[in-house]
Amino acid sequence: AHLGRLAAAVLAQVRDVVVEHEEELGRLDAIAGDGDHGIGMRRGVDAAAAAAEAMAAAGSSVARVLTAAGEAWSERAGGTSGALWGSAVIAAGLALGNRASYRGEDAADAVTAFTAAITELGKAGPGDKTMVDALLPFRDAFLRNLDGGTQVAKSLAAAAVAAQEAAEKTSELRPLKGRARPLAEKSLGHPDPGAISFGLIAQRISTYID
Ligand code: ADP
Ligand code: MG
Ligand code: MG
Repeated sequence: AHLGRLAAAVLAQVRDVVVEHEEELGRLDAIAGDGDHGIGMRRGVDAAAAAAEAMAAAGSSVARVLTAAGEAWSERAGGTSGALWGSAVIAAGLALGNRASYRGEDAADAVTAFTAAITELGKAGPGDKTMVDALLPFRDAFLRNLDGGTQVAKSLAAAAVAAQEAAEKTSELRPLKGRARPLAEKSLGHPDPGAISFGLIAQRISTYID
C-alpha cells in the first residue's frame, strides 16, 4: 500500500510538470501536428493524478492505483499520446503488483513494462520521430546503470538526462508515424512534442525520487 502512495505522489509531480509546460507543448505540436499535445497531456494527467490519489487514500495496491490512473488518463486525454501513456502506466502498475516497497529489479521490471506497452501499442521504432526516440534511450540508460549496481535514484538521473538529450535530437528527424507525418518537412528542425514531454516528465520524476 505504501508503494501505491508513492505512485500517487509521483503522478502529482507529473501533473505539475505538464501544467508548467502545457503551452509550450501545444505550440510544438502545432508546427506539424494538430496543436493539442499540451491540453491532451494535461487532461490525461489531471484525471490520472486524481484517480491515483483516490485509490491511494483508500489504501490500494500500487497495481490498483496505477490501473485506475492509466484508465483515467486514456479516457480523458483522447489522442494518441493519451492512449499510449494510459496503457504504459497500467503496464508499469501490473509489473509492480502488490509490492509495498521496491528494489532495483522491481523498478527495472516497471520501466521495461512501461516501454513495451508503448512500442507494442504504437508500433513506432527508433527514428520514427515519436516519444519512442526518448523512451528507448531512457530505458537503456536506466537498465545499464542498474546493472552496475547503482541505486535506483542514480540510474533514474542518468536515464532522465539520456531522455532529454534524445528528445532534443529528434529535431534532426522527419516524422514517420502519427499526425505529423504529412507535414514532415515543417517538423524538421523542431523536436517531437511527445519526446519532449517524456523528457520533461522523466526529469521531474528523477528530481522527486532523488
Ligand atoms: P495526437 O497526435 O493524437 O494529436 P498528441 O498530440 O497528444 O496526440 O501526441 C502526439 C505525440 O504522440 C507525438 O509527438 C509522438 O511523440 C506520439 N506518437 C504519435 N504516434 C505514435 C506512435 N505510433 N508511437 C509512439 N508515439 C507516438
Ligand atoms: Mg496532437
Ligand atoms: Mg489530436
